[in-house]
Amino acid sequence: MCSKLNKLPLRIDPHQASKESALYKGVIDCSKMNRLQPLLQSQLNSAEVELQGGVDLYGNSYLHCKMNVALPLICQRCLQGMQYKVKVNIKLVPVNSELEDLDLPEGYEPLLTKWKSVKLSDLVEEVLLLELPVVSRHIGDECPAPLYDEVDEIIEEEQVEEQRQKPFSNLKELLNN
Ligand SMILES: [Zn+2]
Repeated sequence: MCSKLNKLPLRIDPHQASKESALYKGVIDCSKMNRLQPLLQSQLNSAEVELQGGVDLYGNSYLHCKMNVALPLICQRCLQGMQYKVKVNIKLVPVNSELEDLDLPEGYEPLLTKWKSVKLSDLVEEVLLLELPVVSRHIGDECPAPLYDEVDEIIEEEQVEEQRQKPFSNLKELLNN
């Protein structure tokens, strides 16, 4: 794809961006993400973001969002700080009503926009909130805590499943900004 590379805008109109196959790349300031920051162990200053608009074979407009970011979290097993690596690779599909019938393939998430532009930092914050683990933990040997409780593991999976039921439910708030 040979789209023109643009700097990250303050606001983005996902419909327009997908129509124009716009490509945005840059570093976003995360310091004012007031819903995300309290959930982190220390401040996340910035994150690299890549957004590519487009339309897929089935006619879905999308905004392909890619990010590689390490979130500073606390391991719930040993209570020490950890870097939770997140690799975001989702296609956000702008929808104009919560009632819009969506049968999206895997890797797609609805993004409620009501034909309006959204603040990019709100969009990125929402994506990162979606990536936060219900229970943060070091992976296997990286955790200095000796016990590994399998029961916890099962509970964790159930919670994750529950959370997956309502992705982007907070996007409604974005529309009021
Ligand atoms: Zn740990």
